[in-house]
Amino acid sequence: MTAAIRLEQVTKIHRPKGDRGGAPALDDVSLTVPRGAFLAVMGRSGSGKSTLLHCAAGLDAPTRGRVWIGDTEIGRLRETARTRLRRERVGFVFQAYNLIPSLTLEENITLPLRLAETPGDETWLGAIVDRVGLGDFLSRKPGELSGGQQQRVAVARALATRPDVVFADEPTGALDPATGDQILSLLDDLVRDLGQTVVMVTHDPSAAARAHDVVVMEGGRIVQVLHSPDAPLLTAVLGGRAR
Ligand code: ADP
Ligand code: MG
Repeated sequence: MTAAIRLEQVTKIHRPKGDRGGAPALDDVSLTVPRGAFLAVMGRSGSGKSTLLHCAAGLDAPTRGRVWIGDTEIGRLRETARTRLRRERVGFVFQAYNLIPSLTLEENITLPLRLAETPGDETWLGAIVDRVGLGDFLSRKPGELSGGQQQRVAVARALATRPDVVFADEPTGALDPATGDQILSLLDDLVRDLGQTVVMVTHDPSAAARAHDVVVMEGGRIVQVLHSPDAPLLTAVLGGRAR
């Protein structure tokens, strides 16, 4: 079976217009994320976490190297096919929820289906709405919800197309610890019960400890891979690297 995501020697140099580019944000990174994995990406600010996520998701084109989502190599696709791949096979959860305030929760959740011009799978959508526990609120607007509830809606939206992988960039960053923990449990349920693949960026050791595997980044490289680490170990690893 192919992996959910594969990066082979990916380098990304951000080049502002007219600039020759500085140090690579990603420096020769190779990574395989198997299907059904719950992977956390840790590292200090500026270590390349978001760039890794954006390259893995086809939001950003690598300067060098190759990226596959399932058995599709992104770099080989034309722009329209790449857009379709992003819409149908990748889900995103952001720190700031990014729901559309004028749409109801139901409309927010099903927006990716409308963008992808597919009706979606009713049974799957029902299961997702059940999972996030907001079935009674579907006709409300995001502004009527707490931050934690909005993030649950964002998770449901990310899953609407039943993507190959859900990418979450600091999904608990705007939430208090208890509410953040509920979002992490939700992500964990999706992996365990629905076989989803989740890649989550976080700088919070207790959030990363909820993942199965953790990669630690520094200076655009993966400098460590840890299997089922606990929060104290991650704190120690990051503390050691910050010095
Ligand atoms: P992280 O998410 O770990 O904080 P990023 O991937 O956002 O790190 O950034 C890695 C490096 O690339 C940083 O030095 C950052 O300043 C730089 N960078 C990120 N995005 C851009 C961009 N669009 N243009 C120029 N430099 C960027
Ligand atoms: Mg970032």
